[in-house]
Amino acid sequence: MPFSLYIHIPWCQSKCPYCDFNSHAAAAWPEENYASALIAEIDRRAADPPWDGQSIATIFFGGGTPSLFEPRSIGRILDAAERRFGFTRDAEITLEANPGTVDGAKLAGFRAAGINRISFGAQSFNPAILKFLGRIHSADETRLAARAALRAGFTRLNLDVIFAVPGQTLADVGIDLAEAAALGPDHISAYNLTFEEGTAFFTEMKRGRIRPLESDDQAEMYALVREELPRRGYPMYEISNYAAPGHEARHNLTYWHAESYLGIGAGAHSYARDNAGGRRWWNERMPARYIALASAGGIAETGAETVDAATAAGEFVFLNLRLRNGFALADFARRFGASFDAIHGARAARLFEGGLLERAAGRIRLTDRGLELADSVFAEFV
Ligand code: SF4
Repeated sequence: MPFSLYIHIPWCQSKCPYCDFNSHAAAAWPEENYASALIAEIDRRAADPPWDGQSIATIFFGGGTPSLFEPRSIGRILDAAERRFGFTRDAEITLEANPGTVDGAKLAGFRAAGINRISFGAQSFNPAILKFLGRIHSADETRLAARAALRAGFTRLNLDVIFAVPGQTLADVGIDLAEAAALGPDHISAYNLTFEEGTAFFTEMKRGRIRPLESDDQAEMYALVREELPRRGYPMYEISNYAAPGHEARHNLTYWHAESYLGIGAGAHSYARDNAGGRRWWNERMPARYIALASAGGIAETGAETVDAATAAGEFVFLNLRLRNGFALADFARRFGASFDAIHGARAARLFEGGLLERAAGRIRLTDRGLELADSVFAEFV
């Protein structure tokens, strides 16, 4: 089975106040040493089960801000991955980019290095909202970057947008969606702003200095996103993701289908499924310690857990329910050796009765109301 490879690049020019990713603000970063550490990890993982002998179907450079790295470094890492594993013929290779860190030449360099999909953190086209979100780029820089990416030959382009920002109106959200679509990406991710513990926004919220929007307003904005993006040619295929038909992000589908993925780099998580359960592990989070560990022998793992069949059967459900088409009951039964009703029937009954789940044509999925209350549905299967 071809698998998905996630590669974490942990540095950013500055830390956005809402961000809870493993990202570190820095003016300089040990690019050569970090790329060498990633390659050491690739070499080591390629020698051991379950990855040995398998080829790569998708790669995702996430962060952090991978576009801070030079195309030459990205090319080095991709060459190592291709040499050790091999790529499937149509491998999807995505790089996350901050519009404030690229120009036409750099984007052309990424394309030449083997990247074939770019994902820009646009977030908004409203200067006041960009400032509030602590973004380092302007709306014009996003427009220029998106156009330069298309000119550089990227036919696959995602734009991330954030909504439900304090002070934002429904009309503001509509304008951001129109601006994003007007740039002609094949994919748009629209995320509801959340206030995660450990972020600057969370502290500000606790101190009463910023207030999240009322939940009704957030729901109204989410409804607008679900109506507006499909109308502009981007059907919804996941809770926060919209794409031209056939242009869904295959890398992320691996996660939502609860399939195996190898994560390398600081703080990266991996999952290797076996028949019904699997094993999950994660790497050292701090970049300097990660480099030291990975460079010494290719392993930077600092924790692991076995996922038993019962846990995996719950994870399969809440991950697949993120997808607009949910999952096929036959796929569930094939994977877990028992029917969905036998394993989850009792808790699911309440969700069907409450109008949060629906069953049709051998599949189960969230209803429209279930989409708005998705977290409480997922909690039933954790
Ligand atoms: S650029 Fe992205 S990864 Fe970096 S701090 Fe901002 S949101 Fe987080």
